[in-house]
Amino acid sequence: PLGAMQDWNMRISHVIDHAAREAPTREIVTRWADGSETRTDWAGIHRDARKMSQALQALGLEKGDKVASLAMNHARHLVSWFGVAGMGGVLHTCNPRLFEDQLEYIVNHAEDKVMLYDAAFQPIVDKMRDKWPTVEHYICFDSGEHTTSFEDWIGAQDGDFAWVDGDERDPCMICYTSGTTGHPKGVQYEHRSTMLHAIAGLQPAAFNFSSSSVMLPVVPMFHAASWGLPYAGAMAGIKFVFSAVNDPAVLDEVMKTEGVTDSAGVPTVWLAHFQYCDANGLDLPKLKAATIGGSAAPRFMIERLMKNGTRVQHAWGMTETSPIGTVGGPTGNWDELTFDERVEKTMKQGRPIFGVELRTVDLDDPAKVLPRDGKTSGALHIRGPWVVKRYFKAEEDAIDADGWFNTGDVAVLHPDGTMQITDRTKDVIKSGGEWISSVELENAAVGHPAVAEAAAIGMPHPKWDERPVLFVVRKEGQDVGAEDLISFLADKVAKWWLPDAVEFVDDIPHTATGKISKKDLRKRFSDYTLG
Ligand code: ADP
Repeated sequence: PLGAMQDWNMRISHVIDHAAREAPTREIVTRWADGSETRTDWAGIHRDARKMSQALQALGLEKGDKVASLAMNHARHLVSWFGVAGMGGVLHTCNPRLFEDQLEYIVNHAEDKVMLYDAAFQPIVDKMRDKWPTVEHYICFDSGEHTTSFEDWIGAQDGDFAWVDGDERDPCMICYTSGTTGHPKGVQYEHRSTMLHAIAGLQPAAFNFSSSSVMLPVVPMFHAASWGLPYAGAMAGIKFVFSAVNDPAVLDEVMKTEGVTDSAGVPTVWLAHFQYCDANGLDLPKLKAATIGGSAAPRFMIERLMKNGTRVQHAWGMTETSPIGTVGGPTGNWDELTFDERVEKTMKQGRPIFGVELRTVDLDDPAKVLPRDGKTSGALHIRGPWVVKRYFKAEEDAIDADGWFNTGDVAVLHPDGTMQITDRTKDVIKSGGEWISSVELENAAVGHPAVAEAAAIGMPHPKWDERPVLFVVRKEGQDVGAEDLISFLADKVAKWWLPDAVEFVDDIPHTATGKISKKDLRKRFSDYTLG
């Protein structure tokens, strides 16, 4: 009845074994917060991961136990990705920018036993220690005076360790959503789902890695598994360059000195890099590929990178999808497209990578599946082997009977498979029974040279239910008035989409992952009335 091929559990240990065997000397470079630099390679990561697995067992940890990290991107953090999975543990990458009550909640909810942390986050650890009763051991990634240091801790082991085997459906990592509504929710990635996601990420239509790639992931290891890059990179045996600080000056320098070909980050990171280079009269690094995701990549960003000879991979995903769902890269007809058409295409969120499926359904009637006509927008659903089935410790599945997960995003699907995010379900503005995309308004507004940031929210309106109000932060030293801005928008969006009011503010609130927090903006303007 079965075929006759070999058994091979999709365990993460295969990934690091492969990297160490096939690319042992490909380097892993870290620029630390204090400016120092260390260099190791895949063989070194493999050796240290085995030592770490041993060290965890020596602490009494068992299969299924959770190990938390509170750390930036660096080689020791990378070691822990393989060292924890290698002994059957589950790594819980915590976002240090979360609010205290969220950090308290997620560590207790996950029941983390060990906390690995950067010295830079010692103040968080000091503050939280009493609130984290499940954490039995604290290990500092840097050498410090008070706690065990990571190097000493794993240094006590000999590395003679056989990976703990198990089911490929065992969990290997848990990531919490940043909880824009209610408590953060835990998503448990499996060895299998992680491996499938990473293999899919290697394809030319996604990260397009080759063994000559040199990747500097700016996207943090604590943000949705750094988009799976550490695993995909290990599979391809690429060189990694990590920076433990997100300072554009440091990033720019290491990109140039280490020959970085690929990088990945949220739009704000790219923006900061542009600003740094402009302010200092420097050229942008000559990257082969830039992955932008987490929020929509604006037109000027795509244009500028493309003009610099960089392929732009606009990615969409979420913690619940491991996180990659779609990636935009050159399409089949790329050669026939003009520059503007290419930019236009890249502004959309790309196409699903093999393994996941998308559909859109009517916002008011979820039973109605919408056509892929490039026009009709609806609630975006996704399913596939690296999409959440049930949140950690939840009583019910997070998917419907057919396996679809409702992303909370509003999107348009195009006939060629391109997906275009138009909003989030809770942010879309309903005016007179019709939907207005807050995202499109914002994108149009940030196209104005004096606008630094813009957020559109629906405000209650006696006649129309809701009408859009645009909150705008001006660029330093720049001026623009409400009327100017509205006439600027007039040929960019439908007339009835034009905001009823424009409010200039000093700042717009952001979430822990650096996205605009409309929830907080709404709270700030809860007394706002129109007309
Ligand atoms: P959170 O939902 O807490 O912000 P995630 O990092 O998982 O945490 O964010 C996922 C959401 O980010 C998606 O549902 C989508 O709304 C948004 N997003 C991600 N990538 C893009 C993109 N390329 N364009 C527009 N929105 C995006």
